[in-house]
This record gives sequence, C-alpha cells and structure tokens, in this order.
Amino acid sequence: MSEVSEVELWGRLIKPLEREGILYDGRVREAMLRVPRYLFVPKEYKKYAHVDEPLPIPAGQTVSAPHMVAIMLQLADLRPGMNVLEIGTGSGWNAALIAELVKTDVYTIERISELVEFARRNLERAGYSDRVHVIPGDGTKGFPPKAPYDRILVTAGAPDIPKPLVEQLKPGGKLLIPVGSYHLWQDLLEVFKLPDGLVKVKNHGGVAFVPLIGEYGWKG
Ligand code: SAM
Repeated sequence: MSEVSEVELWGRLIKPLEREGILYDGRVREAMLRVPRYLFVPKEYKKYAHVDEPLPIPAGQTVSAPHMVAIMLQLADLRPGMNVLEIGTGSGWNAALIAELVKTDVYTIERISELVEFARRNLERAGYSDRVHVIPGDGTKGFPPKAPYDRILVTAGAPDIPKPLVEQLKPGGKLLIPVGSYHLWQDLLEVFKLPDGLVKVKNHGGVAFVPLIGEYGWKG
C-alpha cells in the first residue's frame, strides 16, 4: 500500500466520526489529521489503521480506536501551554496528539519496557521525540518531578481513582480515567479538582480498556 493511499484512507475516517457527532472539536480534528494512526501501529496492522477499532501493539496491548481517542481528547479540552501527563503510552499515538494540542512538552508513562522502546521509535519517526518524553515506570504513582498537572489522561482501566494522580493535579485541573472491572468494561470518569481542592466526578459511561496495573491499580 502506498503512502498516498494511507493518507487518503486516514482522511476518510474523519468524516464519519464528524457525521456521527463523535468528533466535534475542530482542534482535535486538525490534530488527528496531522498525526495519523498508521505511523504508530506495527507494520502488519498499518492497512487497518483507518478502521475505527482498537489494534494490537506489542506485549499483548492495544492502541485505542480513533473514536475513543477523540472522545478523551475533546473532554480533556487541551489548550496550548498546558502541563499534561498521560498514563499508558502504548504506541505513543495519543501522546503525539496531546503534543499537537498543547504545543509544548508532554510526559507519558509506560510500565512495559518493550512498549517504551516501541513508542520512542514511533515518536522519533513521526517527529515528536523532542516534545514527548516517554518515562518507564508505574503511572499509578503519577510523575512527581513535573507535577502539578493541568490534565492527566489515563488510557488503561483502573479499579479506582489512584490517589497520587488527584494529588498531582492542579486545583482547577482534571483527570480522565476509565474505572471499573479488570477486563473490558469501565466507566470513563472525568475527575475535576476544584479550586478549593475538593473533587467532583462526572461519569461519561461505558468504555473498554486494557487493565491499569500497578501499586494504585490492579495487582499484576
Ligand atoms: N495511549 C496508548 C496509545 O496511544 O497507543 C494506548 C494505551 S493501551 C490501551 C494501555 C497501556 O497502558 C498499555 O501500553 C499498558 O502497558 C499501559 N499500562 C498499564 N498499566 C500501567 C501503569 N501502571 N503505568 C503505565 N502504563 C501502564
């Protein structure tokens, strides 16, 4: 498959997402057009990159479906200059999209070393390695050196809201996290840290993510 047809196919994914009302934010639309998923999937899956489904990446993990990525990025309401932490780097695709939207450095944590290397290679090839910092480790503990954050986006399913992540949010900041069962069913929670430090949670309903494994997540 030629590079041109990959570009065309990727562009064609966007229209149905808009028609169905899933993709409604022009900034997220532009970022998705600039950062196609085919740059972040293993060679054998590139031909499916424009299909609106999760795809396999190494170590038995997945890169999320484009509609899910659009939903989370839109809820995050990312603005230039925001300090953002992502937990669950996977392929690096979502982190590159975040970098497009905040136009500054992004921190992303991945617990599987094979994926740390996979994401770094993808980010290098796609031209984001100077702005997206892939940190190996357990993201349930957050990343204190760069805290506090305007936004924290968790792209794996947790049993509960990890306390360190709320602590590392700025007052007025928010956390997006799927919370629910170990396998394939969670609620997408939008967790607001109010200016007085209290927390308010809005539930956006059912999603399906691989488990968040760590000290404040599921146990290995
Ligand atoms: N955001 C990714 C992308 O754009 O490709 C997809 C994320 S994938 C659905 C979930 C990822 O979370 C997996 O790569 C998994 O290894 C990682 N993960 C699970 N628990 C973690 C933890 N405690 N800390 C960091 N990463 C974790």
